[in-house]
Amino acid sequence: MNPLIDPFGRAITYLRVSVTDRCDLRCIYCMSERMRFVPRNELLSLEELDRLCAAFVARGVRRLRFTGGEPLVRRGFLDLLNSVKRHLGAALDEITVTTNGVQLAEFARPLFEAGVRRVNVSVDSLDRETFKHISRRDRLPQVLDGIDAAERAGLKIKINTVALRHDNAHELPEMVKWAHSRGFDITLIETMPLGEIDEDRTNQFLSLARVREDMASYWRMTDLPDRTGGPARYVRVEDTGGRLGFITPLTHNFCEACSRVRLTCTGKLYLCLGHETSVDLREPLRSNDGDAALQAAIDAAIRLRPKGHDFQIERLRAPATARHMSVTGG
Ligand code: SAM
Ligand code: SF4
Repeated sequence: MNPLIDPFGRAITYLRVSVTDRCDLRCIYCMSERMRFVPRNELLSLEELDRLCAAFVARGVRRLRFTGGEPLVRRGFLDLLNSVKRHLGAALDEITVTTNGVQLAEFARPLFEAGVRRVNVSVDSLDRETFKHISRRDRLPQVLDGIDAAERAGLKIKINTVALRHDNAHELPEMVKWAHSRGFDITLIETMPLGEIDEDRTNQFLSLARVREDMASYWRMTDLPDRTGGPARYVRVEDTGGRLGFITPLTHNFCEACSRVRLTCTGKLYLCLGHETSVDLREPLRSNDGDAALQAAIDAAIRLRPKGHDFQIERLRAPATARHMSVTGG
C-alpha cells in the first residue's frame, strides 16, 4: 500500500492513539474539575481501535503511542496492546505509552509483556502537597511506586513535566536532578492553549526559553541533534550526565519535520495538535466494504494536513482549540 505523504512532502510514520478521554487525575492545566467526558457509547471498541492501528501500520506508520486521558483506566487496554503487538518487528518499530503513573505499579509488567519497552510518565512535582494541588488528587506515592515498578519490569522511563509558573517553577532543577540520578530522560513542557479549564492559563505560562537560560547559568548544557519528529529539542546536561528535553510549541516552530497524527477515542483523526481540522474515521470504519472506505478516508484526511500549527501566546486566554489535550492525547 502507498505510504502516507502529506501535501508538504512529510511522511506520516507516527500515530498517537487516545484510547479514552477519562482520567483518574484532574490536572489544573489539562481539565476542569467537572469535566464532561465522551458518552461511553461513542467510544471506539477495542476491536475498532485495533483495526485502525492495523490500517495505519499498513500505510507506513512505524511507531504507535497510546495515550489518553489516562490509557490505563480504559478497560481492556492490555488486550488491545497484546493484539497490536503482532505488528512489532516487521512493520512496526515500537509501541509506547504515556501515562500519569497512578496505576503503573499494577500495569508495569503486563505492559512489558505486551511488547512495550518505553513509557512516558507525567510527574509535575515531587512534593506531595504541590502534586496534589496540580493534579487535584493525592496520588504522588502511587506514581512513585509505579515508576519503581516500571524500572523493575525493564521499561525505559521518560519523565514529562509541565512547567507552571506558580506551582513548580522553583522545583524544576530538582526534578531534572532527580530524573537524571535515576537514569531517566526528562522533558519539560510549556502549557498549551487546549480546551477550557477552570483557570486563566496566562497566569501559569512559564517560558521554557527563560528556564533554559537560568539553567545554563549554573549547568553546562550541550545541544543534541536528537529529533523525534515532534516538538522536543534535547540537550545533554553535562553536570548530571542526563538528557533534558524542552517542548516549546509557543516559542519554537517544530512543524517542518512533524511526522505525527493523532486519533481520538471516538475515531477522529487530528492532523495537527494546534488545528481544529479533523476527519471522522468511525463511519468509514463501520461501513461494510472491508477497509476500502477507511483507507480512502485516511487518504482524504492526510491531504488536508496543514503546514504548521497556530498557537500564539496572546491566545492563551482563549484556547486555540476547543478540545482538551485529554481528547487528542498530547
Ligand atoms: N494522562 C496521561 C499523562 O498525563 O501522561 C496521558 C495523557 S496527557 C493529556 C499527555 C501529556 O500532555 C501529559 O504529559 C500532560 O502533562 C500534557 N498536557 C496536558 N494538557 C496540557 C496542556 N494544556 N499543555 C501542555 N501539556 C499538556
Ligand atoms: Fe489526566 Fe494526563 Fe490530563 Fe493530567 S494531564 S488530567 S493525568 S490526562
